Amino acid sequence: MTWYDVYSALDPYGRAAVGDRLKTIGVPGLSLIGGWHYFNNKWGFAMDNVLSYDVVLGNGTQITVNKTEHSDLFWALKGGANNFGIVTKFALKTFDVPKISTTIQAYNESGIPDFLKAVCHAAKLDEQDPIAAGMVASISYNVTTKAASASLLGVQEGTERPPSQFANFSAIPSIMKIDKVQTMKTWAQALDSPKQMFRVMYSHKTIKPDPQVLYMFYKIWKEAVDEISDVQGLYPTFVTNVHAPGASRVGKTNGVGNVWGLEAEPLILWQFSTGWALEQDDLRVQTWSRQLTEKLHAISVEKGLASDFIYMGDAGEWQDPFLGFPAENVLRMREIRSAYDPKGTFSRLNWGGFKLGV
Ligand SMILES: Cc1cc2nc3c(=O)[nH]c(=O)nc-3n(C[C@H](O)[C@H](O)[C@H](O)COP(=O)(O)OP(=O)(O)OC[C@H]3O[C@@H](n4cnc5c(N)ncnc54)[C@H](O)[C@@H]3O)c2cc1C
Repeated sequence: MTWYDVYSALDPYGRAAVGDRLKTIGVPGLSLIGGWHYFNNKWGFAMDNVLSYDVVLGNGTQITVNKTEHSDLFWALKGGANNFGIVTKFALKTFDVPKISTTIQAYNESGIPDFLKAVCHAAKLDEQDPIAAGMVASISYNVTTKAASASLLGVQEGTERPPSQFANFSAIPSIMKIDKVQTMKTWAQALDSPKQMFRVMYSHKTIKPDPQVLYMFYKIWKEAVDEISDVQGLYPTFVTNVHAPGASRVGKTNGVGNVWGLEAEPLILWQFSTGWALEQDDLRVQTWSRQLTEKLHAISVEKGLASDFIYMGDAGEWQDPFLGFPAENVLRMREIRSAYDPKGTFSRLNWGGFKLGV
């Protein structure tokens, strides 16, 4: 089941769930790794809004897991990915959101410094009673035309048009701006993404918001893309995801928590998503992406801006998101795994995903 199925089912009731921002992503994978959505700042991550899981364990038995039954596993499933069992049912909290106000904006290269400033500002917004609002903010670079452009997909609960939470973006001279009031279903319907992607590499790290440093990262990335511009079918994107303090405050105050243990502080997750066409370039592009990411992360460490947090949904295969969780949480997850999956069925035999090591 995809999030679009969920938004479609909730549409007649004027309700919304915290799930995916595009159309084709599945409910299980995203819920089990965290879940970056437009409404995180107010209602937390997708994982924070799962009220109950039905889980098939490694020994074949099925249990229901919630705040009172198997509460240890309930916590571990909130970010612990596919290391504990197969979830056959997710019961989700929903919210009264009959309409959303959306904005799609695009800017040419001259708008990018202000664009990144607005991204950093969005991470720092920390109101007591926030309006649920969030975005997809990315920069693409066309290696043939040498033109970079930025784009924003912004969503806010309610009918205020244009959406007030994106005023800093709307103030940037844009080459496209489409504001609409619609439902979560109609919005998601238009945002198709590939069901399967081949030859794409993600690499990501996290930084405290600093517009100058983020802009410097973008410039270094763009120059580095030029170095591999002969790679056939090169499709480079610099993506930013915002962690507003409210997003982690939910997990800190709901009596359950999640495995991330993130503080309620503003963060920017920066990511390179790099696509290419041919097998012969696999090693070259993968090495490029990894080395560039490590180089930029070293700069943020040096500047005292780095966070160890790595989001599984944005990470590359070469990264280990568990290293960025608090060590005591990882130990606790391993104890919980020993209790529910003593033979390590899901750590040894389950293909794909990030594994919780021993
Ligand atoms: C185009 C694109 C857009 C994205 N946008 C977002 C976004 O907006 N927000 C965000 O947070 N992330 C986003 N992601 C990342 C996404 O959340 C992860 O890729 C996620 O793992 C996808 O889940 P899935 O169920 O679709 O995938 P799958 O490939 O089906 O599953 C992913 C992992 O979950 C495990 N799994 C699947 N089903 C179950 C189950 N029932 N029980 C236990 N384990 C299971 C699988 O073993 C696998 O390891 C995006 C990814 C892409 C490619």
